[in-house]
Amino acid sequence: MTIRYDYVIIGGGPASVWAAATLRENDKMGSILLIGEESHPPYDRPPLSKKMLIDDAVTVDDPYTKFDNFYPDNNIELKKNTRVERINRPDKTLSLVGGESVGYGKLLIATGARPNPPEFAGGDLPGVYLLRHIEDSLAIRDALKANKRLLLVGSGYIGMEVAAAGIKRGLEVTIVDPAPHPWSKFASPKFGAFIRDYYEKQGVNFLLGESVDRIEESAEGGLTVTLKSGKTLQTDMVVAGVGAKLNTELAEGAGLPTDPKKGIRTNANLQTEDPSIFVAGDVALFEDTIMGQNWHLEHHLNAKWQGQAVGKNMAGANEPYAKVPYFFSDEFDLHIIIRGLGQGGEETQFVGDVDGAEFTELYYSKEGLLQMGISVSRSEETCDALANKLETLILEKFNVLTNSNQVEKVLSVEN
Ligand code: NAD
Repeated sequence: MTIRYDYVIIGGGPASVWAAATLRENDKMGSILLIGEESHPPYDRPPLSKKMLIDDAVTVDDPYTKFDNFYPDNNIELKKNTRVERINRPDKTLSLVGGESVGYGKLLIATGARPNPPEFAGGDLPGVYLLRHIEDSLAIRDALKANKRLLLVGSGYIGMEVAAAGIKRGLEVTIVDPAPHPWSKFASPKFGAFIRDYYEKQGVNFLLGESVDRIEESAEGGLTVTLKSGKTLQTDMVVAGVGAKLNTELAEGAGLPTDPKKGIRTNANLQTEDPSIFVAGDVALFEDTIMGQNWHLEHHLNAKWQGQAVGKNMAGANEPYAKVPYFFSDEFDLHIIIRGLGQGGEETQFVGDVDGAEFTELYYSKEGLLQMGISVSRSEETCDALANKLETLILEKFNVLTNSNQVEKVLSVEN
């Protein structure tokens, strides 16, 4: 027998839980089913590469997005440990692994992403880790406590955050990346030089322009890492953070317009070409009316905000998702926020005290149009205030060149 729900949500991440919560606020009576394949209720990932790694007091359920009786209290049915095998659009049902079938009135696909597997040989050896789930974070935490040497493959979000955790735990830390500077996906070479220098002062060793060829178990214990240049390194553990692969397969199988690298295509309301199917979070290739792009974003606040927006839309609001993208990262004692494009700009300008690690870097087009800002501060409040200022400036289409004499003033947090 197929049980039908008014709303079915596939995926156990923050986009899903925020969609469910917002659906319930906007539709008191509709039946809601949330299906996740993990053994946990939906949880937030930011602590997994930060606090959970350095603080033994963080327990397995601390990252959960909602606590207590949120699901039963809100009449949201939560089906954990469950994988959807197929979306059957003609009869609006889902086939679950194990043979069960459920029906939907409206469907949300929020299937997220998974870590790219390392391309080098030895990626499956004990001591080599990927990071996506709570269990991965706990396993890495245990390994950080048991070992002396840590090698990171990749200087993106995971590589840089886990490196900071490794230093805090007293390990010798090395980062390998073929890119010329850390965070090369979005940061300018000048910002890359700043962050590299900051990390080096904390003791991190960078091997940039290098990539891993293979990892083997070492006769003396630990791991031998051979780089493509022929150089070899000894380490006790490796964490690879070489980007994510979007979980687009279900949508593809259902015949929805999908690009495996960019996501599942939606309009500005996060609705696919099938009006009963919506998408949110990492996997949504959406029409971004604010930034003027069709793209997907892999970040916590994007998942949360899109979940809230899509919940409203599934309940009938029909409103475009309209937020200036917001990324954040914590490294050592620094808070770092990014507003805007998340992929840099043609020109950049520093405002503030770079040597003192209290500054903003503005990224703008050749014509001066502000596209992105990165702010760095030791104060979370200052970063929050700067994030709001950058949002306003981007929405106002601030021109950095024609307003060059105002830049310092508009970014002053005392303003
Ligand atoms: P990423 O895209 O941030 O960084 C990937 C890095 O790997 C890049 O620096 C790239 O140059 C490097 N790389 C690519 N191929 C390589 C190779 N063969 N050898 C060495 N380096 C290589 O991806 P990530 O750090 O793996 O993060 C995965 C996902 O988790 C992303 O979706 C990310 O947004 C998310 N995440 C976000 C945060 C945050 O926003 N603070 C924190 C952790 C994870």
